[in-house]
Amino acid sequence: MVDFLVVGGGIIGLLLTRKLAEQGASVMLMDKQALGQESSWAGGGILSPMYPWRYPDALNHLVDWRAENFQQLARSLLEETGIDPEVSLGGVNMLNVADEQDALDWAQAGVGAGSGLVKTRVADFLENEPLFRQTENVDSVLTLPFVGNVRNPRLLQALKKSLQQRGNVQIKEGCEALSFVKKQERITGIETTQGVFSAEEIIVAAGAWSGDLLTKLDVQVSVSPVKGQMLLIKAEPGLLASVVLAEGCYLIPRRDGRILVGSTVEHCGYDKTTTEDARDKLLAAAYRVAPILKNYPLEKQWAGLRPSSPESIPYIGRIAGWQGVSVCAGHFRNGVVTAPFSVDSLVRQLMPT
Ligand SMILES: Cc1cc2nc3c(=O)[nH]c(=O)nc-3n(C[C@H](O)[C@H](O)[C@H](O)COP(=O)(O)OP(=O)(O)OC[C@H]3O[C@@H](n4cnc5c(N)ncnc54)[C@H](O)[C@@H]3O)c2cc1C
Repeated sequence: MVDFLVVGGGIIGLLLTRKLAEQGASVMLMDKQALGQESSWAGGGILSPMYPWRYPDALNHLVDWRAENFQQLARSLLEETGIDPEVSLGGVNMLNVADEQDALDWAQAGVGAGSGLVKTRVADFLENEPLFRQTENVDSVLTLPFVGNVRNPRLLQALKKSLQQRGNVQIKEGCEALSFVKKQERITGIETTQGVFSAEEIIVAAGAWSGDLLTKLDVQVSVSPVKGQMLLIKAEPGLLASVVLAEGCYLIPRRDGRILVGSTVEHCGYDKTTTEDARDKLLAAAYRVAPILKNYPLEKQWAGLRPSSPESIPYIGRIAGWQGVSVCAGHFRNGVVTAPFSVDSLVRQLMPT
């Protein structure tokens, strides 16, 4: 019997396990495949919601506008594991934003005030970003200066390695949660493809699959998959410093010079196939934003399943009507940036000090 059993080893489950274990709890983390292969791997790792003023405050309250959590986490993971999650704080620039005044108003008060969002001179932006020197239609730039991106596959690898080194964490890969063990209204364990495991508290952090799993408790949680396709262009270092949003796409720099182009938003169930149509549309958008990109080869294309939720507000907390079961899921397009505060919030509920 462990204190906590976490179902799902994406960014949410990995960070939850780390936090609970740091507080002295015994934790079992299970995933139906290897840890960190789904949405958390596929995503871009932008450390801000895109156009954050268009989101509800409830979502923006989960954002750390100075990415301090990520810087601290990256430092300690590098020390513990030798793997650098490559947090880059080059800012997020949004070009030619139609509702610019709404953005500037949002940045004056409430949660928006913490974001540091400002208007940047186009000439300054072009000087700092060589990638856009052949772009003719940059009319305005809004900047979130203190955020950036994390290289999520590396973050996941580092988290996994760090958990493997902890005596109070058990990891079960290739272990699918099938159903819950119930004793009246109390959940005492979980039935899996590797047998039954007991825990004081089960936490469902199964990303896009969370809604389906919770139907076993007759609980309706509106979390479902939304496919996102991404491209990777093998560019070179020094071309792009910040994350740039424009023309319905975004460009994310990696330290080795590669540039990610994202992404589609497709409602097609659990299908993760990539398509030529998506590739062509994303490339066309990227070339409109930055024609220089045509000089570099497309290296890779992939897709992931975001866990969508109404208004993009994740479910975080105990499940009403049952004891011993909680959920942390439905982070939709923002599950990396909001992971640290989401996890802190749930752990505070489960382990009040
Ligand atoms: C293309 C794309 C771009 C994105 N860009 C960004 C971005 O720039 N910034 C940002 O913050 N967010 C971004 N996101 C969203 C972000 O990736 C997700 O919100 C986040 O990764 C969700 O994490 P998770 O741990 O809840 O889910 P996942 O990473 O999907 O993990 C869920 C895990 O649960 C496991 N699982 C499911 N069912 C079971 C079961 N029954 N038993 C055992 N294990 C199970 C799965 O195998 C999986 O490993 C993007 C997503 C995509 C697809």
